[in-house]
Formats: sequence, structure tokens, C-alpha cells
Amino acid sequence: MGSVKADRIQILDLSYAGLKEFFVSLAEPAFRADQLLGWIYRKNAASFSEMTDLPLPLREKLNFAASLSTLALIEERVSRDGLTRKALFRLGDGYSIETAYMAYGRGAGLHPELLEASGKADETTSARVRGTVCVSSQVGCAIKCPFCATGQQGFTRNLTPGEIIEQALYYQRLLSPAGGKTDNGTRRPVNNVVFMGMGEPLANYDNVVSAVEMLNFPRGMGLSTRQITISTSGLAREIRRLADDAVRVELAVSLHAATDDLRDFLVPVNRTVPLADLMIACRYFIMKTGRRPTFEWALFRGVNDSPAQLEALVNLIGGLNAHVNIIAGNKTSSKDFPPAGEKQVKAFKEALESRGIFATIRGARGQDIDAGCGQLRSRFCASSDR
Ligand code: SAH
Ligand code: SF4
Repeated sequence: MGSVKADRIQILDLSYAGLKEFFVSLAEPAFRADQLLGWIYRKNAASFSEMTDLPLPLREKLNFAASLSTLALIEERVSRDGLTRKALFRLGDGYSIETAYMAYGRGAGLHPELLEASGKADETTSARVRGTVCVSSQVGCAIKCPFCATGQQGFTRNLTPGEIIEQALYYQRLLSPAGGKTDNGTRRPVNNVVFMGMGEPLANYDNVVSAVEMLNFPRGMGLSTRQITISTSGLAREIRRLADDAVRVELAVSLHAATDDLRDFLVPVNRTVPLADLMIACRYFIMKTGRRPTFEWALFRGVNDSPAQLEALVNLIGGLNAHVNIIAGNKTSSKDFPPAGEKQVKAFKEALESRGIFATIRGARGQDIDAGCGQLRSRFCASSDR
């Protein structure tokens, strides 16, 4: 890695205040920060050279002193129905991460240019195209859930705020209507960001919260706090910290088991943070934020689909008025975790609802492009040392 590059300021790592200080340090007025954010988040600029209303000497200074991008695309896959995309990126230090995009709504799955060509690109159609970016927060993960492809890779390092934000920006740039402007909020291709890619976001607390702040900042990505979801394996202390923090997000808790003996095995962090501690933290989160976590349950046949687990789950969260998201388990390479079939998933949902717990089914999207957590990278890594 060249030393000049290493010394460059990574613009996407900076908070709004940090960006203003940066311009002051270049003897520039602080309002340049707003101009720069406008170019990055509204006009989808991927380089300083495009920022034509910045004086040329400033653009040159920025090109020398700063960098707008650290992710290099290795591969992008699109599912047959066009609704799910998955990108594999190389980081500045050679490690790789993956990001997924899931489109919803009429006209979804068509590239904006195809949408224009199809004649369906009227304001109404575009307004309905919306999508969720699923971002990674770490290279690998230390929690090591045995059913998860990322967990099998072990932990390498935390992602920086900029590396997290750039994953969302990549899809905003790629999928914005021709001209790339996103001034009109209804035409934005990225409406939700979920931290459900590689890594445990709450184990990278500070960087994840910095990224969330810029995703939420009106002059940044401008998403509402309801449009940002952090998914956690259940780090109770950090859930409480999040509840106390000024930042607001939706919280998803990957439960997958409702007794300590099974959860110790499925989500090994449970050995140090047992269910009782996790539930106290969830109640605290609800009390402080007024928001109810969603509980994630990846259903594996013969593993966590028993009537006893269902009963334990009802007892555990029954009083919380919370919602369970049942995930039809992704195909993993391990035969110890056979994904439950459609019928079993439906039966589990109905059994929960008959006990007064609202449940939805999250379909396993993009199986044809290995869109499950960590899977694309695992395949890539089989032929690479990183
Ligand atoms: N580390 C965080 C967020 C990333 S994982 C967490 O665990 O919540 C995002 C979600 O994908 C989690 O609910 C995780 O349990 C789930 N997941 C991982 N591997 C899976 C698989 N093979 N099948 C179904 N869900 C899986
Ligand atoms: Fe880590 Fe989440 Fe995978 Fe568990 S499911 S290993 S916490 S990324």
C-alpha cells in the first residue's frame, strides 16, 4: 500500500463536524462541507473531479489529500428475477466483504435505464421502486454461530464508518435513475439499511453508530431512524448502551433458540450473555426508546422447530408485544442445519400466532446468487488467501 494513499483523509469516515474541521484545516470555509455532502449524497458523485461548483484548485487539493472511496468491486451478481443483488468488494488492505440489495415494488428489479426504456418510468412507478441494502459491519465475525457462513471464517477486523456507508452509496449510485440525482426522495433506490451482512454490528459499536449517524443525517443519506435496523446476536451491554445513546435505530435480535442449552450451541455468545440477561437488556431498550425489537428465528429442521422451543419462546417474549421474524434457513454447507421447508415455516408461524405472538416470514431471497449471510465470500475465499 502506497504511503501517500494511506495518509489520505477518508472523507466517508468523517462526521459532519469532522468534515467542517477538515475544510477549515485546508483554509476553506466550513460551508464547503455542505457542498461536498450534496455532491456525495444527492448527486451521487463518486469523485472530487465531478464536483464542478468547487473551485478547481480545491478539487485538486482534495484529490491529493483525501479519498472518497476505499471499496473496489470484485463481483456483482443479480438473481434471475432481478430483485436481489449481491456485491463482493475488496477493501484497501485486501480483505473482502459482501453487501446485498433487495428491491421491492412495481418495476423493481429493472435497472433504471431499462425502466426508462420499458416506458414504465413515470413518477408513480419510480416512486414505488424501493430497496433495502444489507451491509456488513466486520470482516468475519467472532461469535461463530455454527450455521452461519461468516461465523466459520473467524474474525479479522472491524469496518470503518466509511467502509459501511460506501456499501449503501454503491447501490444508491448504481440504481439511481438516469442523471443520478436523488433530490426527489421518492426516486431513491435505497430506502432501508439493515446491518445483517457479515459481522456483529454491536461488537463494532463506535464505527457502526458513526455510520448510522451519517445514514440518518438529513444532509447525508437522509434515511429516517425507522429505516435503519441493527441486527445483533444479543450483546446485552451494547443493547443497553444503544438505548442510552442519542442515536435511534430499529433493533433485531437473533434469538434462534429460547432455552440456554440450545442457544449456547446455536449462538455461542449466549454462554457469556444468557437469555435472562439478554431479555433484561431488551426490556430496557423498549423502556428507553419506546421501540420493540424484532426477534429473528432462522428455522432449521430438527434443530429449533420443536414444540418445546415454541413453548419456551412464547414464555420468553410473550409479554413484550414483540414480533418474530421467521427466516427460512439458508442453505449452508453444513448438513447439521437443514433449512425448514415452506410447510414447517408456515406451521411454526401459525402456532406462534395462535399463542398471540405476531410473526412474519422472511423469505430466503436470492438463493441462486448465494445471497445468504457470508456465503458469497466463503465461495470466493476457497480460491484465495483473503
Ligand atoms: N451478527 C448479526 C448480524 C448479521 S447476521 C446477527 O447475528 O444478528 C444476520 C442474520 O442472518 C442473523 O439473524 C443471523 O442469525 C442470520 N443467519 C446467518 N446465517 C444464516 C443461515 N444459514 N440461515 C438463516 N439465517 C442465517
Ligand atoms: Fe456472527 Fe451473526 Fe453470523 Fe452469528 S449469525 S456468526 S453473530 S454474523
